[in-house]
Amino acid sequence: MAPTVVPPRFARPSVCTRGERLHRCVSALYPLHRCITGEGLRATLQVIGQKIPLAIREVPTGTPVLDWAVPKEWEIREAWIATADGRRIVDLAASPLHVIQYSTPVRARMTLRDLRPYLHTLPDQPDLVPYRTSYYHETWGFCLAQHVLDDVAEGGEDQELQICIDSRLFEGALSYGECVIPGESEEEILFSAHACHPALANDNASALAVATALARDLLDRPRRRYTYRFLFAPGTIGALTWLAQNQDRLHRIRHGLVLANLGDAGGLTYKQTRRGTLGAPLPIDRAVAYALRESGVVIRPFEPTGYDERQFGSPGFDLPVGRLTRTPHGEYPEYHTSGDTPALLTPEALEASFDALIRIVDVLEGDAVYRNTQPYGEPQLGRRGLYRPTGGPADTPAAQRALLWVLNLSDGAHSLLDIAEQAALPFATVRAAADRLLDADLLTSPSFG
Ligand code: ZN
Repeated sequence: MAPTVVPPRFARPSVCTRGERLHRCVSALYPLHRCITGEGLRATLQVIGQKIPLAIREVPTGTPVLDWAVPKEWEIREAWIATADGRRIVDLAASPLHVIQYSTPVRARMTLRDLRPYLHTLPDQPDLVPYRTSYYHETWGFCLAQHVLDDVAEGGEDQELQICIDSRLFEGALSYGECVIPGESEEEILFSAHACHPALANDNASALAVATALARDLLDRPRRRYTYRFLFAPGTIGALTWLAQNQDRLHRIRHGLVLANLGDAGGLTYKQTRRGTLGAPLPIDRAVAYALRESGVVIRPFEPTGYDERQFGSPGFDLPVGRLTRTPHGEYPEYHTSGDTPALLTPEALEASFDALIRIVDVLEGDAVYRNTQPYGEPQLGRRGLYRPTGGPADTPAAQRALLWVLNLSDGAHSLLDIAEQAALPFATVRAAADRLLDADLLTSPSFG
């Protein structure tokens, strides 16, 4: 009898896409017990530090940071609720979401009636566990699915339940990670992603993964005009701590983006910088809008809510930092619930977010102001091998049009981004035209845009 041959159609492809690699990275980061301080945050930074060089800072509890102070470090070993017969109905071992982050320790027997004020559910999403925190008000509590609570309640309000939160708040440190990638200029582009949410994939393991991949890409480039700074820090208090410790360096930040929610199926949303909203759009606002114009990016004005753009855009700092997300916080049903799992994210969306950031970086890196060295009449392009006759102007290829636009608007006052906007040409086409004209000595050296 002939041997059975298994067809290879179920074999995994040997080469996986960038999106698949990003999704794998999200899945590795997802289960870690992150918080604004502690070992889960450190473990997260270690995962990132295996992919890019990361300096991990530890700032001691009590250190004053602007109007705040670094809080105590939080450690949790176990947390559970058990019925009288010993059945665990809620267990931290199943998900870090089951306890309010920063819960103080407690061990008690209580009736369900007395325990209810400490139980948090989502009645409208009965299968999901909410994500709750209480960083600056000492309390404790459990988070669970409404249907689990309803099942327990069948035993009556007077049933006695056993509860345990084995946690510790102590004088420790707040950790954050920084990856600085030097460029030709000391001027910096800042990318920041909050690293404090446990077991939530889109918010914000997605941005941790995408930012890490972007840093890797920049590290591997032969030259960079700007210096890049990637900040992986707990939300709010991490950004405040970093700002407090870097006040003498903030003037170097020319552009920046807060990154979050980069893996869901929604389209890209850009939140403008504070200054760009109140006045004319800043270069980062224009670069994002132009680089992503064909992606259908939705542009929103700055408002003092959301992620760490609130801190970077506080009036004293007013840094040129916008925010890139797919679906913004609070606008997808799984937001801040146990439904925000890696299964919510697609490799395609993660890869599209990465590609969008590459396009933005390429605009920022490539933008410059030049001066046409032959501004009196059009220079003779054919003699320089730059003119390719193709018939009438109607079918002039974009590359040809870009040469004429760059020559015409390179008067020392217009940047390549200005020219791309004016000509409605892709930035890369305009940048390539400028490179050809530079090679032909038809443009003078740049001043940065
Ligand atoms: Zn969040």
